[in-house]
Amino acid sequence: MSALVEIMSPELDKGDMTELSVVIPLYNEQEVITVMYERLTAVLTGLRVTYELVLVDDGSGDGTPAVMRRLANDDSAVTAVFLSRNFGKEAALTAGLAHAVGAAVVIMDADLQDPPELIPKMMQAWNEGADVVCMRRSSRAGETWFKRRSAHHFYRVLNAVSDVEIPPDTGDFRLLSRKAIYALQQLNERNRYMKGLFAWIGLPTTVIEYDRMPRVAGTTKWNYASLFNLAFQGITSFSTAPLRLVVAGGLLTAFLGIIFALWIVAKTLVFGDPVQGYPSLIAMITFLGGAQLLSIGLLGEYIGKTYYETKQRPVYLVHEVLKRGRVVDQMTA
Ligand code: UDP
Ligand code: MG
Repeated sequence: MSALVEIMSPELDKGDMTELSVVIPLYNEQEVITVMYERLTAVLTGLRVTYELVLVDDGSGDGTPAVMRRLANDDSAVTAVFLSRNFGKEAALTAGLAHAVGAAVVIMDADLQDPPELIPKMMQAWNEGADVVCMRRSSRAGETWFKRRSAHHFYRVLNAVSDVEIPPDTGDFRLLSRKAIYALQQLNERNRYMKGLFAWIGLPTTVIEYDRMPRVAGTTKWNYASLFNLAFQGITSFSTAPLRLVVAGGLLTAFLGIIFALWIVAKTLVFGDPVQGYPSLIAMITFLGGAQLLSIGLLGEYIGKTYYETKQRPVYLVHEVLKRGRVVDQMTA
């Protein structure tokens, strides 16, 4: 049986009228949503292509859904997708991609950190044959030194251990062709580390450099704990290197243990030392106990992932979809 997955989507031949979709996940973004909408619309109307905006409400608790409803009613280019609760940015993006119909799809954040003015450039690269156009941040204004440094190192570590090459300093801001989206939809894992999935599909990729802007308003939805969690998810979803590291650590410890045992035997034979070494015993036990717990925990992390994958729950639930001002879909996955 052939394991080859055909990545030409059937929709490709039908020739959908919409050329460009812009997918934006929103979580409590009431301060920026109208500014973003206006700036984006200005850019898109200037492009002279048929376009749609797919706004995904990721279970916001503020006025975001109300503003989205208003936009979807007033502008037929706006599709508003409401998730049933907060599923996280990766899930919101997946939902947005599933609802986008354009031949090319741009993904961007709601806070204008990814300048919409770059979309024409991205479209140009797409017209020149790229299936994926990655935007690489050459600078990150408005982010702390620590965040910039940790992001920098994280990408280096991730690349060193993961099976696919994940371009450093590229965020989720990118353009995907219909073919790339179709390819992405073949990856139906629950645990969606988007940057890794984007890299996994391969396809002709163009990288464009840009300067990352500070947020125009509102606050970041990430704290260091959630960033650490994302980083950990990224590594454990795309690599089993940590497990191999533990194996290496185990081998090394066992080897040192044997050397130490031999040394004790030799010392006793030569000098006939009485038994001593309570402190070294305790040090050894705590060290080994710690190392064992760490490896079991790590193993558990991978088993936990398998557990979640086997449940086969949907990545997100859509509560309602508004398209051209009308409700087109309710409570589907
Ligand atoms: N976001 C989301 N769900 C979440 C958290 C964030 O959809 O649970 C969206 C958020 O509205 C924004 C984008 O993801 O459009 C990036 O979030 P943010 O600007 O807070 O992240 P940062 O730029 O600080 O990394
Ligand atoms: Mg942001």
